[in-house]
Amino acid sequence: MGYVDLHLHTTASDGVKTPSEMVRYAKYKGLQAIAITDHDTIEGLGEGLAEGERIGFEVIPGIEISAEHSPGSMHLLGYFIDTSDSLLNERLKYLQKAREERNPRMVEKLNQLGVHITYEEVLKVSGGGQVGRPHFAQVLIEKKYVKNFQEAFDRYLKKGAPAYVDKLRFTPAEAIRFIQEARGVAVLGHPNTLGLNGYGELERLIADLIKVGLKGIEVFYPEHSASEIAQYKGLAERYGLVTTGGTDYHGLEKEGLDVGVGKGDMKLPYSIVETLKTVRNQS
Ligand SMILES: [Zn+2]
Ligand SMILES: [Zn+2]
Repeated sequence: MGYVDLHLHTTASDGVKTPSEMVRYAKYKGLQAIAITDHDTIEGLGEGLAEGERIGFEVIPGIEISAEHSPGSMHLLGYFIDTSDSLLNERLKYLQKAREERNPRMVEKLNQLGVHITYEEVLKVSGGGQVGRPHFAQVLIEKKYVKNFQEAFDRYLKKGAPAYVDKLRFTPAEAIRFIQEARGVAVLGHPNTLGLNGYGELERLIADLIKVGLKGIEVFYPEHSASEIAQYKGLAERYGLVTTGGTDYHGLEKEGLDVGVGKGDMKLPYSIVETLKTVRNQS
């Protein structure tokens, strides 16, 4: 059995490879299957699935939804979603619209702060996909308002900074419901970004999410330490959750990270996919 990567971004959100490029690249890298999990969109799935069919490579239709959570961020992954589901499509359209209104507001705020950039400039560096704060940062660097990404986020773009505009988000329960409604399997992505204080808080959160339909935890992730992996694995076992993993490859900001292998040592067996399929068919 081969290896898989269940967390990948394409140009449909903030990744660099188009969905077909991603599928061909994963096959070239010798993987057995991948999931395309773009942020809050399923726009890339049609193309990715078609390319998979064309070249004989398994592509799992996925998504990564940002949910309301503090102090950190919560991302919920959905696997094997039915892309034609009307509720999911309607909710994602609503999110998209809110995002489109958010970006021009960030430009306005920057202008008020004496930073003269236009929305056209941001659109240009985004290359036609979803527009996000990294694109704003890129324009700020190019126009020499800041030296690097870190400074762009610290001075202007991070949560609480003067040009930041809050994003519309669904609650975790809503996000899980949309995934389930579309017959998908809901998985808590990279728990280390939740910003929780210790095992107890994470365990309580997971117990709550299970009540609303959570089925898995993304245990294997390049940014997880060995002790975090052990902790998440333990929680998954304790609560009967599927353990998944992926590299979160965008092809842009993380140097030295590659599809399938992460920083070099990731090996995710195909059996994860089989378990996800079993869970999907049980619900
Ligand atoms: Zn994420
Ligand atoms: Zn991601």
